[in-house]
Amino acid sequence: MTHTLPAVQRGLLIDGRFEPALDGATLESHDPATGELLVAVASGSAADVDRAVKAARRAFATWSTASPSERGKILWRTADLLEEHADELALLESLDNGKPLTAARHVDVPAAAEVLRYYAGWATKICGTTATPSRPGPWHAYTLRQPVGVVGQIIPWNLPLVMAAWKLGPALATGCTVVLKPAEQTPLTALRLGELLLEAGLPDGVVNVVNGLGHTAGAAIAAHPDVDKVAFTGSTETGRLIATAALGNFKKVSLELGGKSPNVVFADADLEAATAGAALGIFANQGEVCTAASRLYVQRDAFDEVVGGVARLADELAIGPGTDPATEIGPLVSDEHMQRVTGYIEAGLRDGAEALAGGGRHGERGWFVQPTVLVNAPRDASVVREEIFGPVVVAQPFDDIAEIAREANDTPYGLAAGVWTSDLSKAHRLASAIDAGTVYVNTYHATDPSLPFGGFKQSGWGRELGPDALDLYTETKSVIVQL
Ligand code: NAD
Repeated sequence: MTHTLPAVQRGLLIDGRFEPALDGATLESHDPATGELLVAVASGSAADVDRAVKAARRAFATWSTASPSERGKILWRTADLLEEHADELALLESLDNGKPLTAARHVDVPAAAEVLRYYAGWATKICGTTATPSRPGPWHAYTLRQPVGVVGQIIPWNLPLVMAAWKLGPALATGCTVVLKPAEQTPLTALRLGELLLEAGLPDGVVNVVNGLGHTAGAAIAAHPDVDKVAFTGSTETGRLIATAALGNFKKVSLELGGKSPNVVFADADLEAATAGAALGIFANQGEVCTAASRLYVQRDAFDEVVGGVARLADELAIGPGTDPATEIGPLVSDEHMQRVTGYIEAGLRDGAEALAGGGRHGERGWFVQPTVLVNAPRDASVVREEIFGPVVVAQPFDDIAEIAREANDTPYGLAAGVWTSDLSKAHRLASAIDAGTVYVNTYHATDPSLPFGGFKQSGWGRELGPDALDLYTETKSVIVQL
């Protein structure tokens, strides 16, 4: 069955209008299942970013003082519109990114709507505190929480709509205005979301969507002197560039970066559930997930059963175009990324690892990679140490809890971890010992808008989601009144 690309705007959304880039540049979105061109959209330069920042600055004056309940209503209406247009958005996402349509329809779109609803609720509940002075005196003091200002938001291609919602929800609830730059590989759902925000009643200029390349449009946002804060999700390497560029005007910076997350299975766990969870942890969204459970540690007695089971599940996954309803694992986002992932697999095999499942590219058309399970990799191999961001898991045995706590933390990253055991005390001990922003116990990839999300170590700065994200988008002001 062929699917036609739903109608979508192709311009940059600046000040409520979709317009071509000033220099007429475009970037192309390709169907990862075939490599064929889907559509070309406007690609913004630094000059377009500047126009968008000016529009956001003008809009800030009214949006930051709009009634919080009005801000909440617009977020809620947008969530309703996402659900009304769920089929269309899911198809756009699947064609643009490659992910299975069923996942886009039943995971990505509902998750994006839920996050907007969660922050719709917060819009009316952001408040300061009354201080109890430690020095006596005839004075009264309190704090105000005010929006940080114009915010640049730079997002990746793996969960384009969800990442846009994570960023926009708290920014709009707190009264900030936004210049959003989607990843160049996946420009489409952000354009549709921009239209839906306007339809929901968002005033012109509050959200500007500037598609474009990272080293031009993205870098211009990070360095812009009139952007007050930059929020970034992407690789640790790019995060470092952004933090450095942001120093120019000491922008506030929040970063959600890479990971190499350990998933630890004890022999006393429900091994069937742990096996399924280990497979889901690495193969969901083709492994293109920052929290992907890419290091699987299984206690020695259960190693063959669990790792053999994960390999069997890998072999059984239906690989195909995202738009085929039977597909469980779609293509990777781009040719370049496929080459990167298969390059890691080849390096792992050269380093001495053995593939129990997969081991390379799938087919010759489109950018598919086989779900791959590697064993016997040396501890210093790049497949063990570095983020691959694809459907590749490296499994290793361990003996006891002290050893595994050390091993799990032997990484520059600290985004997520999984623990599978029927012993509650072991679960809590390890959850506390692992340096990671999220620890899943007897589950994996569970997220909720109410739970803060982010990384220890080189996995990032700050926490998105939950009430914590409101801190990223507000400044606290102390007001002291002499009585
Ligand atoms: P990337 O860093 O290459 O790109 C992410 C975004 O940054 C894109 O919009 C890109 O255009 C932009 N960008 C690139 N260079 C830039 C520069 N010099 N200045 C400003 N912006 C620039 O990452 P990617 O390949 O798109 O995404 C994969 C990475 O994202 C992985 O490392 C993954 O772990 C990470 N990620 C993290 C999370 C999280 O929440 N921690 C979520 C999803 C993805």
